Amino acid sequence: MTEWDVDLYSDTKTRPTPAMRAAMMAAATGDEQQDEDPSVAQLNDRVAALLGKEAALFLPSGTMANVAATMAHCTRGDEIYAAASSHLLHFETGGASGLAGAQITPIGDDGGLFTPEALDEAVRGIRWNAPRPRLVWIEQTTNMGGGRVWPLETLRAMQRVATTKKLAVHVDGARLLNAAVAASVEPAEYGALADSIWIDFTKGLGAPFGAVLAGSRDFIAAARRYKHMLGGAMRQAGIMAAGCAYALDHHVGRLADDHEAARQLTEGLAALPGVEVAPAVTNIVMIDVTGTGRTAAQILAAMAPAGVRMGAFGTFRLRAITHLDIPRDGVNRACSAFAAALQ
Ligand SMILES: *Cc1c(COP(=O)(O)O)cnc(C)c1O
Repeated sequence: MTEWDVDLYSDTKTRPTPAMRAAMMAAATGDEQQDEDPSVAQLNDRVAALLGKEAALFLPSGTMANVAATMAHCTRGDEIYAAASSHLLHFETGGASGLAGAQITPIGDDGGLFTPEALDEAVRGIRWNAPRPRLVWIEQTTNMGGGRVWPLETLRAMQRVATTKKLAVHVDGARLLNAAVAASVEPAEYGALADSIWIDFTKGLGAPFGAVLAGSRDFIAAARRYKHMLGGAMRQAGIMAAGCAYALDHHVGRLADDHEAARQLTEGLAALPGVEVAPAVTNIVMIDVTGTGRTAAQILAAMAPAGVRMGAFGTFRLRAITHLDIPRDGVNRACSAFAAALQ
């Protein structure tokens, strides 16, 4: 197995720090399935307050947060409107259809964002023979879209369309706190514009597991049943929750450092001949190498001996994500390795 010194493949590659591990070791625990784990209860209360919601539910992963929320919102034949590049459509094994029985209608997007007009246009009228319009799906920040942030103004307009068309609004907030930090928005402001919303602890926050889904008391009660159905109820999960609480205490403000590193990476790579990079807004950098005469796979292979890794998505597209385990000189090393790969 290669040891990657500069692993920009994803912000999921972070390892729990010694201090986070110590916090996990010291956690108070109980039977989570029975609602008796004090550390999980505390984390749920904390995230509910952070997102301005009545209640919250601890889950092992973001994928389960999405599917439990979908099951709570939708029934068979219901329709979800999501960006064509959304994580939901591409990387969640078709769980919305497979488990919730919902169909996803992709909306053409720009960097993962679509307009209220496009949503309005896409939503079908309610007819006996049409799927029932049910849910609009917002990914904050956009993953394959390149870490873009949905502005509050757009989200307000989305909510207006959703209300008119009787849709619920779900926010896949795998990187919601990156958006909050980058846009200087309180997470609860995003929460106020959603019926259900969650944050992931295993992306830039650097915990080994955990996501918390928030919503109304009734919605969370429904999602809890589906979490159990999916086998997601746990026992002494306080050990997990303590790592997440540690991340909230210590790893949120520093997301700004990741955004700065991504900005520097963008600058360094954009200076290379034939390389096109969209300006980084948060911690995700999308790199188009069509103009270099090299494929993404060739560039990755050439960078590997230098211990630098990124992700290849398509023949000519690479993705780099900055995070807390990127060493101080990591951006320079990545730019040098990239330049060398083009030689
Ligand atoms: C990572 C991710 C998920 C899934 O979260 P996991 O915790 O990895 O299961 C869902 N949506 C987006 C946008 C993601 O980036």
